Amino acid sequence: MERYLEGKTALVTGSVQGIGLAIARALAGAGARIGLHGLATQDAIDRAKAETLAAGAPETRFFDADLRDAAAIDAMMDAVSQWGGPDILVNNAGIQHTVSLAEATPDIWNAILAVNLSGAFHTMRRAMPAMAERGYGRVVNIASVHGLVASVNKAPYVASKFGLVGLSRVAALEYAAAGDRKSGGVTVNCICPGWTETAIIGPQVDARAAAHGGDRAAGIAELLAEKQPSRRTSDPAEIGALAAWLASPLAHNVTGTAIPVDGGWTAQ
Ligand code: NAD
Repeated sequence: MERYLEGKTALVTGSVQGIGLAIARALAGAGARIGLHGLATQDAIDRAKAETLAAGAPETRFFDADLRDAAAIDAMMDAVSQWGGPDILVNNAGIQHTVSLAEATPDIWNAILAVNLSGAFHTMRRAMPAMAERGYGRVVNIASVHGLVASVNKAPYVASKFGLVGLSRVAALEYAAAGDRKSGGVTVNCICPGWTETAIIGPQVDARAAAHGGDRAAGIAELLAEKQPSRRTSDPAEIGALAAWLASPLAHNVTGTAIPVDGGWTAQ
């Protein structure tokens, strides 16, 4: 693979597993130093580091800020800045809780908004001025189809993801003229996945599987049949490949977008 991110430093939130780890591996393959982040056991951290180095990262570091804590995010951004980054910021960490609006507690609302939306505000606010100074910067925010359309029982999640799409568009406009074609410019985009095979969909898959005598495949098939016309889940590596392309110099004029990877879900 072409090493077009040599000399660049990426911070990928929530990258000890799932989509974030796949993005970290893809950016590593293009030559970036990788700042890993998430809430995880030492085993999971060591595994993520080893996988990212094996994928081609010249160096990795782990950051453990709890994204519900603005002061912890600030401390993480200080440390990343001392390390020389981030040139590439991927706000990927996210949480989900399916519950009706009437039954959603303020605690659920506050946690989902803090991690999925405010976390991105805190990291972008700190990272983007230095990107503009360097003339190159990439922010890739992992929103969701639920940043573009709604579903029942997901009010806090949908609100957070619509908010993330809006925040990204404003930042894209504010930084659109930074840098130039040669330096690569500063872009901000959202990726909006549909059903993707990671831990976050576990509870929803389990609930459907239970209705089919514990048959996981049947549970997934039912979820897909409702919303995702391709009837195929995405593999996290496919989201990783798109994030790495958005970070490439070729993508200097792609900004302010919210790109669905959803098998046609939002085309309906
Ligand atoms: P995941 O549960 O495997 O990963 C979530 C990550 O977020 C973990 O690394 C976790 O450590 C981190 N995290 C959670 N709470 C945190 C906190 N308080 N502080 C710091 N880190 C925290 O799920 P995933 O599917 O890989 O999710 C990645 C992103 O993709 C999320 O934003 C999610 O909303 C989005 N997404 C996923 C799907 C899907 O079908 N899997 C679909 C659309 C969008």
